[in-house]
Amino acid sequence: MTLTIRKLIVLGLIGSVLLLGNVVLVANWLAEHGVVDWARSIRAEYLTGTAVTIIVVLLILLVSPRAGALIRRCPVCDHVLVSRGKYCGECGSKV
Ligand SMILES: [Zn+2]
Repeated sequence: MTLTIRKLIVLGLIGSVLLLGNVVLVANWLAEHGVVDWARSIRAEYLTGTAVTIIVVLLILLVSPRAGALIRRCPVCDHVLVSRGKYCGECGSKV
């Protein structure tokens, strides 16, 4: 964590506390400028229960299976690679 990220976190915390302190003012301002009605129409038009379900399922399924995989497998013979070497111990192909 670098110093810039820490500064950004502190600024974000201060900003969120200020926003929470004035939540009624912010809500009234958003309603005056039509953001609330716009968001309500978007939700009614595009974010039905089925659409939300499909989006969530796609987000779950689209996570890369390689990320955080503890077990490496040979792309040729699908043998589990025990060592960190460059070659498969079963078929000898380069991994
Ligand atoms: Zn192999």
